[in-house]
Amino acid sequence: MVADIPTLLLMITVASVVMACVLVVVAGQDRRNGLGLWGAALCLNALAYVLLILRGRIPDPVSILLGNALASATLSFLHAAVLRFQHRPLHWALLLAPPAVLTGVLALHLQDFGARILWANAFMALQMGGVFWVLFERRHATAGRGALMIMCGMGVGVAVLLARALWGASGMPAAPGLLQPGTIAGLTFMLLFVVLLIASFGFVFMAKERADEVNRRLAALDELTGVANRRSIVAALDRDVGRAIRTREPLAVMMVDIDFFKHVNDSHGHLAGDRVLRNVADVIRSRIRAQDIVGRYGGEEFLVVLVDTPAQGALQLAEQLRGAVQASSCHWGTQRLSVTVSVGVFGGRLEPGDNWDQLIHAADSALYRAKQGGRNRVEMAPALERPVRAGLAAQGPETLPSTH
Ligand code: GH3
Ligand code: MG
Ligand code: MG
Repeated sequence: MVADIPTLLLMITVASVVMACVLVVVAGQDRRNGLGLWGAALCLNALAYVLLILRGRIPDPVSILLGNALASATLSFLHAAVLRFQHRPLHWALLLAPPAVLTGVLALHLQDFGARILWANAFMALQMGGVFWVLFERRHATAGRGALMIMCGMGVGVAVLLARALWGASGMPAAPGLLQPGTIAGLTFMLLFVVLLIASFGFVFMAKERADEVNRRLAALDELTGVANRRSIVAALDRDVGRAIRTREPLAVMMVDIDFFKHVNDSHGHLAGDRVLRNVADVIRSRIRAQDIVGRYGGEEFLVVLVDTPAQGALQLAEQLRGAVQASSCHWGTQRLSVTVSVGVFGGRLEPGDNWDQLIHAADSALYRAKQGGRNRVEMAPALERPVRAGLAAQGPETLPSTH
């Protein structure tokens, strides 16, 4: 089957425009994800193909120079889209310089088909390599299948363009019959469009992966205070309990409860109460280490998970936290609101079979005693209450609790 090149080019043009529209719709109001720039690149690509279709019907210099300038600008805009996606500065001069330089070089070789093929393809291969490089260089920031798709697309694109550049350098190309059926040009156009298609899907995918990640993070956070929500702090505790059992490292938890919080709401209103909650969350967050996690366990109750921390260390930190909350205050209108907290602490080594809810129960009981003891204080939980296990019972009567 011999492809009809003008029809092929027309289809590529239409597909580029349709894809550009889809990208603009997907981009929506968000100007920071680069989808709009990628869409603009696809429009420039469509225009470049229109000029190719018009080859022979419009003056050659216009079709050749403007067509190549637009193809080069397409790649500049792809580059810009990736930079925008990575929140890096855009140097417009740098992005607009390649099409200008390419136009100048091609103008010097307007009558030499082989030289034009060589320069145009080598130049654009370099540009595609540039898009590949910005993704490769920041692969940790844009890791994922989307970025991989773009890099694959660009890699194949570079190979196709270099092959065509070498063909141009070989001295073989004689007649420019660009739109004649069965030419290498037709195959190149098709391959390059497939490359653009794969890269465009990759870019949409990359934006989707980022949006999913943001949603995942938001779903794990408490909306009011910005710390972990109950579901994610319990999940983190469950994971850390498993790790502490395996590694035999001590693990500590703190249950922090604001004293007489109802009084804040009753005297100053619910919004003032919210302000106090955020302040207490900020104080806790600023005092714990990077590997520790704080989450909002209930209304005015925070759970802090301290990895690799023995009871004594957790007790010290709890005292510091209690003092820091007492010393802190937050503005509410003309007033300064300050509260105190009571803290229940559990810390120690865990055994196989221990559960996250046992730790919470232990810290909760200690918290209850802190409240009973007058509030604004820290209480330590004794050892975990462990059910007597069948394995222990089998070891002998001396390990069993007395039944008399
Ligand atoms: P205690 O010292 O015994 O802990 O007394 P308390 O008043 O702090 O405890 P209590 O459980 O009686 O009251 C907790 C209050 O926290 C009741 C509830 O209205 C309030 N609360 C729970 N969630 C929120 C919230 O998101 N915002 C605000 N402003 N208040 C909340
Ligand atoms: Mg309370
Ligand atoms: Mg409470």
